Amino acid sequence: MAKVLILHTGGTIGMTATENGYQPDGEYFRRAIHHMDSLKAKGMPEWDFMETDPLLDSSRMSVAEWNSIGSLIAGHYNDYSGFVILHGTDTMAYTASALSFMLKGLDKPVILTGSQIPLCETRSDGRDNLITSLIIAGEAKVREVCIYFGGHLLRGNRATKFSADGMQAFISPNYPDLATAGIAIRYNMAAIDNEEKGEFSCRPFENIPIGILKVFPGIQFSLFAKLVCHTLKGIVLETFGSGNLPDDEGILLPMLKEAEKNGAVVTVCSQCPQATVNMHAYEAGSVLREAGAVSGCDMTSEAAVAKLYYLFSTCRDTAEIKQYMEKNIRGELHEN
Ligand code: ASP
Repeated sequence: MAKVLILHTGGTIGMTATENGYQPDGEYFRRAIHHMDSLKAKGMPEWDFMETDPLLDSSRMSVAEWNSIGSLIAGHYNDYSGFVILHGTDTMAYTASALSFMLKGLDKPVILTGSQIPLCETRSDGRDNLITSLIIAGEAKVREVCIYFGGHLLRGNRATKFSADGMQAFISPNYPDLATAGIAIRYNMAAIDNEEKGEFSCRPFENIPIGILKVFPGIQFSLFAKLVCHTLKGIVLETFGSGNLPDDEGILLPMLKEAEKNGAVVTVCSQCPQATVNMHAYEAGSVLREAGAVSGCDMTSEAAVAKLYYLFSTCRDTAEIKQYMEKNIRGELHEN
């Protein structure tokens, strides 16, 4: 018999209006979900409910919250056949990416969902998102970290927030949907990870100094020298198109070389959601390779950030981290 743990972490789905705008309201949400008849209807999996303390707007979440969500799942891993994590949309793609790396050997569904309109409002999309996520977690046809939102089930580390007001808040620009929920839930079995899993473990992240640097025409790279050369360990460089840089006036490349000497890993991603980085396609990008940067291939920046946290928390050898950044370890990228 399927039994799912619903873990409420905050986000719009469980918020109510206050003088200062929407805020998480644990008491309201607890009552609301225990009174939702459709969650207890025939055919629904059994479920238990838990919440994190404090409940947060996901824009306030960080590595500590990823670690507690991961540890909660790990602590209850054997008690449930699947997990539904209720979470704000703002950083859901980061948390999903982080959990995908943190939960090694995951062989059960972990479905993150939330809503654009709080459950307390008449037009809330939270009802369907919650009910369908619970069904997907109960069916256990996907055994990986996913986001279910607005009728689409996406691989968590391939998803990115795309809309702040549409009901389809997330897209997976470089990987097919794992399922679509219309009249029936149709799984795309060819896209779902069906590999044999090893032993399950959870590896919390260390709070490594990581940064994203987005280039733009006219960027003055020298302004970032201290950060890039001496502070950051992991750097996601968001470049144009397939991995191109503006004219660096002889500044960025020596900076990147120095960063590399100091043990930093620079990963090149694209500002285009739908893209694969190819640092050899143009002269404007090939210099990055010479400076020791690695390709983020078709990874989202969210996945690249989470992967840097994971690798720096598990490996001590920078050369090894660089190698793994370009390798597919949880379905997060297609190797060039
Ligand atoms: N600010 C909210 C959050 O991310 C937005 C949402 O849930 O949609 O927690």
